[in-house]
Amino acid sequence: MSIDSLTTLVRTIPDFPKPGIQFRDITTLLADGEGLRELIKRMADIARPLDPDLIVGIEARGFILGAALALALGKGFVPVRKKGKLPGKTVGIDYVLEYGTDRLEIHVGQVPAGARVLLVDDLIATGGTATAAAQLLREQGASVLMALFAIDLPDLGGMVALEADGVVSQAIMAFEGD
Ligand code: AMP
Repeated sequence: MSIDSLTTLVRTIPDFPKPGIQFRDITTLLADGEGLRELIKRMADIARPLDPDLIVGIEARGFILGAALALALGKGFVPVRKKGKLPGKTVGIDYVLEYGTDRLEIHVGQVPAGARVLLVDDLIATGGTATAAAQLLREQGASVLMALFAIDLPDLGGMVALEADGVVSQAIMAFEGD
């Protein structure tokens, strides 16, 4: 399947969750068996040569793609969750949003020092979420081999910000505009 066909499977919903945002909805791609297989194949082809120890996915759509990728590579999966969702002892990082702050957490011990991890999410916009997640992983002594996304919004500069932070990043599809 071509990148154009894959991109066509992503639905754009204007003004969600607030006016002015073009929401790039991957649920339509996920619901298409061929499209889902193609997306995961493309992500796996990029990730496999890196031979990561672990796949780390960001809540919530990063769980879907990250778990599928982990299965494709035969690796374990670790979730990065929003504040207060994980039942065990956690370690976290606060990060700044457009309005206010938020917190990302992982279970203590699930990302061991020295682990070589691949970070996964569905989409990168400003890069704030992925940058915070990468920092949290580094604080555990892990090295982030790459941050891999299904979709990049290049006009928002997230991948450039991540790279400036020393995190190699790549995306399968790109959408112009925000
Ligand atoms: P950011 O921290 O700005 O890079 O935002 C990335 C996070 O917000 C990801 O977890 C995305 O799922 C979500 N997100 C941000 N903008 C959009 C958008 N236009 N469409 C879909 N998801 C988005």
